[in-house]
Amino acid sequence: MTSKNDNETDTESRKPLKLSRPGKLSLKKTVETGQVRQSFSHGRTKAVTVEVKRSRNFERGASGRMREVTQAEQEQEAAEALAASGKLSSLTEGERAARAIALEESRREEELRRQREAEEAARRAEEEVKRKAEEEARRAEEEKRRAEEEARKAEEGETSAAPEEETPIPAAEIPVPAPEKPVRGKLMEDETEESREKRKTAAPPRPSPRRGGEPRRRQGKLTISQALDDGDGRQRSLASVRRQREKMRGTPQKAAHAPPSKVVRDVVVPETISVQDLASRMAERGAEVVKCLMKMGVMATITQSIDADTAELVVEEFGHRVKRVSAADVEIGLRGAEDEETDLQARPPVVTIMGHVDHGKTTLLDALRKTDVAQSEAGGITQHIGAYRVTLESGDKIAFVDTPGHAAFTEMRLRGAKVTDIVILVVAADDGIMEQTKEAINHAKAAEVPIIVAINKMDKPDADPDRVRNDLLQQGLVPEEMGGDILTVEVSALKGTNLDKLLETVLLQAEILELKANADRSAEGAVIEAKMERGRGAVATVLVQRGTLRVGDIFVTGAEWGRVRAMLDDHGEQIEEAGPSTPVEVLGLNGMPVAGDDFVVVENESKARDIAEFRSQTRRNVAQAAASRGTLEQLFTQIKEGEAKRLPVIVKSDVHGSLEAIVGSLDKLGNDEVKMHVLHSAVGGINESDVTLAKSTGAVIIGFNVRANPQAREQARQGGVDIRYYSIIYNLIDDMKALLSGLLAPEASENFLGYAEIREVFNISKTGRVAGCRVTEGLVRRGAKVRLLRDDVVVHDGTLKSLRRFKDEVREVKDGYECGMAFENYNDIQVGDQIECYEIKEVARAL
Ligand code: GDP
Ligand code: MG
Repeated sequence: MTSKNDNETDTESRKPLKLSRPGKLSLKKTVETGQVRQSFSHGRTKAVTVEVKRSRNFERGASGRMREVTQAEQEQEAAEALAASGKLSSLTEGERAARAIALEESRREEELRRQREAEEAARRAEEEVKRKAEEEARRAEEEKRRAEEEARKAEEGETSAAPEEETPIPAAEIPVPAPEKPVRGKLMEDETEESREKRKTAAPPRPSPRRGGEPRRRQGKLTISQALDDGDGRQRSLASVRRQREKMRGTPQKAAHAPPSKVVRDVVVPETISVQDLASRMAERGAEVVKCLMKMGVMATITQSIDADTAELVVEEFGHRVKRVSAADVEIGLRGAEDEETDLQARPPVVTIMGHVDHGKTTLLDALRKTDVAQSEAGGITQHIGAYRVTLESGDKIAFVDTPGHAAFTEMRLRGAKVTDIVILVVAADDGIMEQTKEAINHAKAAEVPIIVAINKMDKPDADPDRVRNDLLQQGLVPEEMGGDILTVEVSALKGTNLDKLLETVLLQAEILELKANADRSAEGAVIEAKMERGRGAVATVLVQRGTLRVGDIFVTGAEWGRVRAMLDDHGEQIEEAGPSTPVEVLGLNGMPVAGDDFVVVENESKARDIAEFRSQTRRNVAQAAASRGTLEQLFTQIKEGEAKRLPVIVKSDVHGSLEAIVGSLDKLGNDEVKMHVLHSAVGGINESDVTLAKSTGAVIIGFNVRANPQAREQARQGGVDIRYYSIIYNLIDDMKALLSGLLAPEASENFLGYAEIREVFNISKTGRVAGCRVTEGLVRRGAKVRLLRDDVVVHDGTLKSLRRFKDEVREVKDGYECGMAFENYNDIQVGDQIECYEIKEVARAL
């Protein structure tokens, strides 16, 4: 019976919840619902009903009205409520008893729970807690059911009881089975104080932290995968595993992720800077800089240059300090400060020998050096600036810079004068002042360099030094003998006479100049010559002007920089250091400097690099500007000149000085009609790229003291490229002149052949009008040009179509014979007209 009863009551107890008492449910609604529209991807939306559960309890207030009781009040007032229940007329005795029992139970349970929680706190064993909780839940269920049963029994017993009112629902009446696992979010209908109490005990305490490996409390809907995963076989997600690992790695990992403590740098920003360069100066990643620029709306690749303003913003963005410099600032302080008077020491003079060609410059220098340079020189003329130092018997030293006498070397001479303290002007006593002597005087004057005149070739019988002095006077140079300040020395370079006097004069002049320099400082000088040498690379002849140059020094020269690898003196011997006024060959350049460039030792490589970079940039800009200007100018000149013929050439040379001289003199060749056009000029051997360029432009390649490599030679042979080798500038220029002359349009000269007189005019249907003539002078030739003269006025100028004697075509008809002639495209001939026959002879012209 009991078991059956139990079953019955079970079904019975559930009934009112669902079906039999719906009215109560609707009234005691503790759920607030609302609709929320959820948005998904691709614009899909869905209306979702959101339920918010709220537990409510009621009691009758003093006025007899119902009022809601807060949860806190409930427990305290539970007993009072029970006591007060007596006043509730609606409650039967059974009900009251049931409620009392239920309350008693809940109180006991509460005690148990507290005790249990204390235990849990001590052990912190979740499994245990859960087991207990379940146990409790089960017990609670049991108790509750019992209580309900009793309540119902009591109710059934007293059927006369008043109908149920919408007053506080007796706890026993609506038994809610406490689920083993209460589902959160699920609607718990009509929760009562008791059931809530029970649920509280049944559920594992909320705040207890979950441990790894423990089953997670299910949330929301149960999905199949969740259901399958539930329990011990549950696998952790990849993300979870990763998080776990991350946590295990702990702090170091975090430290790696965290930005390292920022180093604020002073970033030097020139007028323009490439993104890459800026990034490296800030020690930031290039990509980051590009990103930063993009944020600022500047789209720049890593290799592009940005202006200083943009760069400044970027630098600030990265939190560094900006140091704006003008590009030219890199040059500031390049040349050291002026030396103190006390640091200065006397230095040897630097002398340049100038003069007209063949007046004996090289011979004089040789005589002074007592070495015969002229013999080793190709063609006996100085091809490029050489610098030598002569030590006199007295111990005094003089540095000599030799400049070639040919007009082609004007530019080099100009540079020669730049480093020069004194100019020795060589004038041949038998020749007097010539074109290049005047040039030399002008250069020396422009450079404000004192001139010593060496009147050379005094050994020659026709030597006339007084004439030379008089000529000098005309040039504005007043010799000492004539009350001026120009020292003149009569010498013979060949015989070596009076050379000591010349040197004395030089030293005297130097003394007047008070030449001094500080040897105890970083070296500064000038490049006199630069060349590329196999196995040695770029080699520069440098004249040290102040300071001392040492092996290992870092220097800037023009747009190049380098470290002195080795130094050679004018005798080809290795030296370790070179003081003021010493010419040395320097090895260790990174590129070819240009003769005339400055040469400055700097403190470090980065400065050298900066300056070289800046200079090459400026040179590029200048070249670019010149090129763009050039095209415009070219356009205009071509328009003006009509069809100026240009002979394209490519010049390759052994040294830069010769190259410049050759290019300079080639530019001067030609006239309005024909011109040389130097496409490309460089120091070094002739290579394939030169040949390719020549082939595509029809240029002639000039190799001055250089040869083509085998590949280039073969390529030139196949492509029919003209390569010409020279070792003497005279020959080169003469040859080019001849080549240019070949381009000149030949002069056309008229060659008179003869006259014929028209005696009769025939009309021949096929040929048109034919003149029957007699040759009166000279001869008439077929194919020659003819003029038709009527009363000594030229009425037609053309060619003969046919020349016949009787019926036959003949080549020429001589004086006194008759012939028939027909004009090409001309028929207006009359009896009595004269025919003048002539031919055009082309005469080649020369420049
Ligand atoms: P540069 O072109 O000015 O360098 O002249 P060079 O030194 O090559 O000399 C040209 C020519 O003049 C050579 O044949 C020398 O031998 C000759 N020469 C130079 N000096 C003298 C001199 O003092 N007397 C004579 N008779 N001939 C000289
Ligand atoms: Mg010479």
